Amino acid sequence: LTSAGVPLDVDGADVPLRHEPAVAPLLTALRAVARAAAYVDAGAGPGPGSGAGAGSGTDGASGADPPPPQGSSAPGPAAQNIDGVNADGDENPGADPDPDPDPDPDHESGPGPAAGWLDTETALTLLGSPLGCMDAADLRRLGRALREEERAAGAHLPRPSDVLLTEALAEPQRLVAHDPAYARGAQRLGLLLRKARELLAGGGTAEEALWLLWDGTPWPQRLERAAFRGGAGGRNADRDLDAVCALFDAAARAEERSGGRGALNFLEEVDAQDIVADTLTRRTERPDAVRLMTAHRAKGLEWRLVVVAGVQEGLWPDLRRRGSLLEADRIGRDGLAEPLTPGALLTEERRLFYVAATRAKERLVVTAVRAPADDGDQPSRFLGELGVTPVTVNSRPRRPLSVPALVAELRATTVDPAASPALREAAAARLAKLAALRDEEGHALVPAAHPHRWWGLDEPTRSQTPLRDPDEPVTLSGSALDQLANSCALQWFLAREVKADEPATAAQGFGNVLHVLADEVASGGTPADLAVLMERLERVWDGLAFEAPWKSRQEKQNARAALERFLRWHVMREAEGGAGQVAGSELGFDVTLEAGEYEVRIRGSVDRVESDGQGRAYVVDFKTGRSRPSAQEAARHPQLAVYQLAVREGAADHLFGGERPEPGGAELVHLRLGAAERDGGDALPVVQRQDPLGADPQDASGEVGDGTKGAEGAGGGDWIGGLLATAAGRVLDERFTPSPGSQCTHCSFRASCSARGEGRHIIE
Ligand code: SF4
Repeated sequence: LTSAGVPLDVDGADVPLRHEPAVAPLLTALRAVARAAAYVDAGAGPGPGSGAGAGSGTDGASGADPPPPQGSSAPGPAAQNIDGVNADGDENPGADPDPDPDPDPDHESGPGPAAGWLDTETALTLLGSPLGCMDAADLRRLGRALREEERAAGAHLPRPSDVLLTEALAEPQRLVAHDPAYARGAQRLGLLLRKARELLAGGGTAEEALWLLWDGTPWPQRLERAAFRGGAGGRNADRDLDAVCALFDAAARAEERSGGRGALNFLEEVDAQDIVADTLTRRTERPDAVRLMTAHRAKGLEWRLVVVAGVQEGLWPDLRRRGSLLEADRIGRDGLAEPLTPGALLTEERRLFYVAATRAKERLVVTAVRAPADDGDQPSRFLGELGVTPVTVNSRPRRPLSVPALVAELRATTVDPAASPALREAAAARLAKLAALRDEEGHALVPAAHPHRWWGLDEPTRSQTPLRDPDEPVTLSGSALDQLANSCALQWFLAREVKADEPATAAQGFGNVLHVLADEVASGGTPADLAVLMERLERVWDGLAFEAPWKSRQEKQNARAALERFLRWHVMREAEGGAGQVAGSELGFDVTLEAGEYEVRIRGSVDRVESDGQGRAYVVDFKTGRSRPSAQEAARHPQLAVYQLAVREGAADHLFGGERPEPGGAELVHLRLGAAERDGGDALPVVQRQDPLGADPQDASGEVGDGTKGAEGAGGGDWIGGLLATAAGRVLDERFTPSPGSQCTHCSFRASCSARGEGRHIIE
């Protein structure tokens, strides 16, 4: 009924207060701060002062035996050391991992750092709740920014963003420097949680803490606005506001009853309620809503129209024995009564059906289904006792009896070529009538009936103000270039510009770890010894978030095999003498190139640059994925070509004594993939080479797939110049159309892509 837009009035007492959607986040926040306050209380003042609720405002019992931080088995920085690894990948020896003294007074008084009071699950729940007001995109951006911050602070492998978000929420001063555009929700909630903690620790009540949390966010105003707007959203907002009022009532009454026994006691009380306690103010009935209730609850009430739905044999009468394990229903005034006989049960059921059926003043509708097979669902025997002949309906209704379905049918009729002009006209007239309906405050009752709300009718618009300054170079990375020019511009736009890509996966963590270790070996920081590398790997491995322990074990085996391949490959390169000498690793670059009519700025980092023995720079890019490009794709691999361009533009000069080296070619080294037998077998990685830029005579044409001429400045007619110009043109054109291909298999945006069946609904 709700999804069909029918206003419903469900008795609130049917849902325990703690399960109300609006109440759950408030209780979660209160639980977190109350536990933290009790924890600090216990740590700050041993002895009776901190226990027994002596004016502390926190639970006495909890004060005597403070619960550990949620999700943690021991006091201490649960969130900070969730993986036992610090930012540098070193094991935390137990010392305070935060060298900065925290201004939070809890740090001084509590037995552990403040971050330990909040566990990751609670933090993420709160951030995504109406209290935090953060959507998945905000969370991703903030997580990414926090990881960047940690990386900038010197950590090669920043901790997972979930852990960093938890820490930041527990210590909101860490968020001060972040852009409120995506961090506002966390900044506000972090401060509120801190204030609520301090309030409880200073003797405040659960009601005061709840009010502080509720009133400090824009949530109340949002609900108020939604309630005034009416419609389905307004009904939900009404319900949420009612539930929050009931929570405050319950907190106030608990306070009156228990005389300040603390927030944890109140939470325990609420958790124990499966049926909500009486509220002081009864929910007012809404005259324009369908009331949904059991037959028992309907006793004594009457309506003009009553529907008794689902009157099936087996459900009505329900002849199963009543009562619970203890059969409390048998306890009578004169002792234990005999259990009801089947006959008595049937009589009681019939009486109940009679009660339900006689609630109707004008019209009664009773429904049941009849399955074709005898052993399927059958109507109740009570149906025959009503004295009317049932009407059999053998088909589904043409459309659901709801306003959205009616609007959909009318809309379809207005454009149906098979419909007569008169019928189409009549459908349009009815839509106009529906669109004009207003409630008493002037809000549209059926806004979807107005063509202004219909999708896909307008032509695409074009912004007069370009998003990027056309006079500034277009900034791209090697991988973005491939996506934009070769695979799918829409995928690039959604992932890179909208930043709607899925959060970093364990696979990316796997790649990062291997890259760091390869860099350490190349730069001489770590010996080329498998035992040493595995020891380094072990230290950081638990920091990677795998879906399951078995997956983590399996991937560690794969990582070991990849490291073995890397070491063999590395040792072989070293043994090649003049060629293959490492000139540098993790070489960052930032070069600006002319590409046709555009200027393109390319930024990135080259995994490894070698001197090939002829003074040329040879680029190596390590890959840790499970797939590899074809030989032709590798020959025109944009990322490798961009690296070669960077070398040509001077990115590696300092590695060659200040001289400008010529690009000597490049290669992809696939550490996860074992080579074919003829190339050395599984113990060596798959290697795919790319010639030096411009070495292929065909390249001199500067032609790319679509015939675009390569840009002069980007390599004197190299194909890569054309690719850069194509990519830059697409970015500045601001039209990102889907290009289906093999990349769709792993694309996260299929449900939003008009080229795919799953996403066609966005334009149809
Ligand atoms: S599903 Fe395919 S065509 Fe659509 S955005 Fe993704 S990669 Fe592009």
